[in-house]
Amino acid sequence: MKKIVVTGAGGFIGGHLVGKLIKGGHRVRAVDIKPLNEWFQLFNEAENLVLDLRLIENCNRVAKGYDEIFNFAADMGGMGFIENNKAACMISVLINTHLLMAARDYGIKRFFYASSACVYNAVKQNDIDNPGLKETDAYPAQPEDGYGWEKLFSERMCRHFREDYGLITRVARFHNVYGPYGTYDGGREKAPAAICRKVIKAKAEGVKRISIWGDGLQTRSFMYIDDCINGINKIMYSNIEEPINLGSSEMVSINELVGIVEDIAGIELEREHDLSAPRGVRGRNSENTLIKKHLGWQPSTPLKDGMKKTYDWINTQLINYDNSRI
Ligand code: NAD
Repeated sequence: MKKIVVTGAGGFIGGHLVGKLIKGGHRVRAVDIKPLNEWFQLFNEAENLVLDLRLIENCNRVAKGYDEIFNFAADMGGMGFIENNKAACMISVLINTHLLMAARDYGIKRFFYASSACVYNAVKQNDIDNPGLKETDAYPAQPEDGYGWEKLFSERMCRHFREDYGLITRVARFHNVYGPYGTYDGGREKAPAAICRKVIKAKAEGVKRISIWGDGLQTRSFMYIDDCINGINKIMYSNIEEPINLGSSEMVSINELVGIVEDIAGIELEREHDLSAPRGVRGRNSENTLIKKHLGWQPSTPLKDGMKKTYDWINTQLINYDNSRI
């Protein structure tokens, strides 16, 4: 049994990891800035703390007496959020910086940082036939403005805390994670959850048309949450010192993703393409040579299977508990 801090524990990925660590018999200190009633998952077995981790004194408080830290806390969301909240995204640099300082000062033995595919150079993502982004494609640096710069800088902070202070840091670059217990409305949601919500809503209201951001030809890969949690554990306890991709290599266009959701829902809808909406890069995929080499493993849940579970969960939320939002 270890004593493990999970930050951003009220959010999507943090909540899933807390559940897994508790099942594994660990003592967990779960921390988030949101009030407890807004946490996506709340485990009574954990020590649940509501704290703003931009402040060093709160980072010191959470690190004290614990062995390891998984840092998922960040002010973030899908493309609609990060394109319109660049300063807010960059302020998350305080969270990782202060957590690293606390980890160093309180003898934390291992530190995980959740980076993102948004660190990759935009020039490598202009084509829908993206061959997959290799770890070296982050440099020369031209990441996503705001959010991506914060992630790239924080990655390097991890590296230098490792080199200069001997703190063991591990960094994974997540490529679009989706699944149950994530954001599906309110402006921070990402494409898989947003499309599920729109299709469920259209079906419930008998509407025959949905709006899609962009022309729908833009490509992405999407990783199911169970693969993400497995990968985080594998990377944390590996000897991989440099940032590594953690993503699915099953690339689809947004139009294909809509088709998958329509098949699950058993309907076909007309698509209205909103060309003024935020679209992000043209093509993005995870290149998994390095993770396969190091771990003999890569995320492998087929998109159709993961989307079915995600659709069913969002459907339950909307139909059973949240009729007002339909
Ligand atoms: P999420 O928004 O569901 O969770 C992040 C949590 O951090 C939220 O609950 C939020 O309240 C909390 N937080 C924000 N500011 C805080 C502060 N000052 N102090 C304490 N808590 C604070 O996001 P997620 O999808 O679970 O993502 C987790 C991490 O993974 C983030 O760092 C994110 O940037 C990274 N990431 C996620 C994805 C993805 O597809 N979900 C992709 C790439 C990277």
